[in-house]
Amino acid sequence: MFELTEEQQDLQLSMRRFSRREVRWKARKLDSAPPGTVDWELLRQSCDFGLISGQIPLGHGGTMDPMSTAIALEEIAHWDGGFATLLSSNGLAQQALAQSGRQDLMAQIFDAVIQCEAQREPVLGALAVTERHVGSDLINPSVSDPARMMVMAKRRGDTYVLSGRKAYCAGGNIANWLCVFATVDDNRHPDGLTGFWVPTDVKGFHVSAMLPTMGLRGCPLAEFYLEGVEVPKSYRLTDEGAGRQLLATLSASGRCQAAAIAVGIARGAFELGRQHTLNRVQGGGPIMQHQMVQHMLADMATQIEAARLLTHKAATASPLNASLSSMAKVFASDTAVKVATDAVQLMGAFGTTLKSGAEKYFRDAKMTQIFQGTNELCRLAIMHPTLQEAGLTP
Ligand SMILES: Cc1cc2nc3c(=O)[nH]c(=O)nc-3n(C[C@H](O)[C@H](O)[C@H](O)COP(=O)(O)OP(=O)(O)OC[C@H]3O[C@@H](n4cnc5c(N)ncnc54)[C@H](O)[C@@H]3O)c2cc1C
Repeated sequence: MFELTEEQQDLQLSMRRFSRREVRWKARKLDSAPPGTVDWELLRQSCDFGLISGQIPLGHGGTMDPMSTAIALEEIAHWDGGFATLLSSNGLAQQALAQSGRQDLMAQIFDAVIQCEAQREPVLGALAVTERHVGSDLINPSVSDPARMMVMAKRRGDTYVLSGRKAYCAGGNIANWLCVFATVDDNRHPDGLTGFWVPTDVKGFHVSAMLPTMGLRGCPLAEFYLEGVEVPKSYRLTDEGAGRQLLATLSASGRCQAAAIAVGIARGAFELGRQHTLNRVQGGGPIMQHQMVQHMLADMATQIEAARLLTHKAATASPLNASLSSMAKVFASDTAVKVATDAVQLMGAFGTTLKSGAEKYFRDAKMTQIFQGTNELCRLAIMHPTLQEAGLTP
């Protein structure tokens, strides 16, 4: 638990080198590029490390368990939380497909991902759950009057016809395929949530906007339309109305990964701030000499260490545990925000300038409190087993 195995240490080292050598300098470019920009060379380089196929289940050719994924994502997020988020989203889409148990689709897609990765051609998936008017209600079954959904799936013989608009889809503009969650309920109730596999070269799919965001800009967030998109019944990933269960299972993994990304962002911010306190001279010497500065650095280091331990505990739970992963996500993302805020503080006015790099960590960190279920919803998930035990769940 406290020591990484030799294999995990090797992975950490190679990811650290890759991230420092390649992600570091591209992160700045991605941060200032127009919304929707991706670095294809970085994605091709990720193929060399098996990062595109890594999260495919081990029995289907994948190579990374949740702990290896957490190690890799922390290292990448150290230099760019956005790119780490993009890789994570692709992996979670693969996991959604795997959890559907659709052997035919799995064989077809996973083989293609693995074969193309060997040619340095990333074949990417994305998860499309959130809509403009409905976010948390899709993952919160206990809400009594949820917001209505836009994306509907209508059964027509042996096919389903999907229509409506999805938002905030990480990598939705570059994905080759999507796991789309649509409602089959005529009243657009999220209880009808059902998962579908949708290739993006299908007629009726089109990206309508790329959303400019405050941070994590290495991960493009797309809004797209499905206009009468017809998919065969065999592309359905869940029973009708069972989409929420699939999302609940997925959230244990997704929150673990979100936690690892937050730890990476916190570590990046901390190292930047700490270096500055050695270089900056005020009050007669390097500012690190001042006890108040040491106090801040000590708290930052302690919180990061604790966040990483909780993340690793969540990542090694077998099976993954939604409550524990939610704890890790809440603690690590709150830590990232606190540490990035303190890093800006330690750097004074310079920390607020684009040149410092600290403000990027600050912007990226804030978003980790929102993705993969907001921290408020994560806290509800943490309390869920307790309420259940007390007979207080609806
Ligand atoms: C970087 C990033 C990547 C993302 N990637 C994807 C993706 O790939 N696919 C995808 O489908 N979505 C994605 N999302 C969207 C994300 O899943 C949603 O933002 C999240 O689920 C929250 O939904 P919302 O934004 O609609 O917020 P809302 O649900 O509108 O919540 C607004 C506020 O109200 C609070 N709130 C809501 N309900 C309750 C409640 N019952 N009790 C207490 N407080 C509540 C929330 O905590 C929040 O503070 C991404 C978001 C980000 C930032």
